[in-house]
Amino acid sequence: MGTCKLCLKVRPLVEGHVLSEFLYADLYDPDRHKFHEFHTDSTKRNVRRSSGYYERMMCDDCDNRIISGYETYGARVLNRGVELLEVNEDGCLVSRGVDYADFKLFQISLLWRSVISTRDEFRNISVAPQDAERMRQMLFERDPGEPQEYGCVMLIPERYDQLKHAILPPEYVRLDRHGGFRLLAGGFWWLYLVSDDGVFEHKEYFLSTEGTLRCVYEDRSNNFINQLARDLVKNPTFPKCP
Ligand SMILES: [Zn+2]
Repeated sequence: MGTCKLCLKVRPLVEGHVLSEFLYADLYDPDRHKFHEFHTDSTKRNVRRSSGYYERMMCDDCDNRIISGYETYGARVLNRGVELLEVNEDGCLVSRGVDYADFKLFQISLLWRSVISTRDEFRNISVAPQDAERMRQMLFERDPGEPQEYGCVMLIPERYDQLKHAILPPEYVRLDRHGGFRLLAGGFWWLYLVSDDGVFEHKEYFLSTEGTLRCVYEDRSNNFINQLARDLVKNPTFPKCP
């Protein structure tokens, strides 16, 4: 028994994924059943891991019904299992017809689970208690909030072929003078804006309430976004793993 981090009730807790399994299910090396975990910190070695990140965080109902519901939809969008209109436009892969609530809450669920995890890989990510509580409420009550509220910019890496086989655990980053986090998973950079003071200049990259998702191609994107991705390659072991 324990206190479920989503519904806050004392219940038996189930072992669940900190990051959605499908984000790295395709990353497993078919011969060795391992995936690559990279670090931007040059004092840490990039490693090959044999399993995902598990932790007992939630009760069965919250993990396997609420969070899994967002995950299922997120996987369908990213794996083209949903009817979407996709065009290349202004340096972005633009998808129209995305369900705003379900996909936004899927994005938030990745950040929130990373925040509440006590695993060592996620120790560098923390937010103010009121932010963690707001995200919990949004997920529990299926309230996606406004686009800029924990807004996420998704970026398609220039070195996609190398990075699609990689996970970079979330870490703090400055986003154009604003506080945020970045995560590499499922072949995308996920850049989250956490401290929104209303003056973030690139809101067009957030999922819109009309259901338009703009995934920015890294090589043609704004410089500030490019910079976020560059630190990764400073690690001397990139992109090789021991
Ligand atoms: Zn629960």
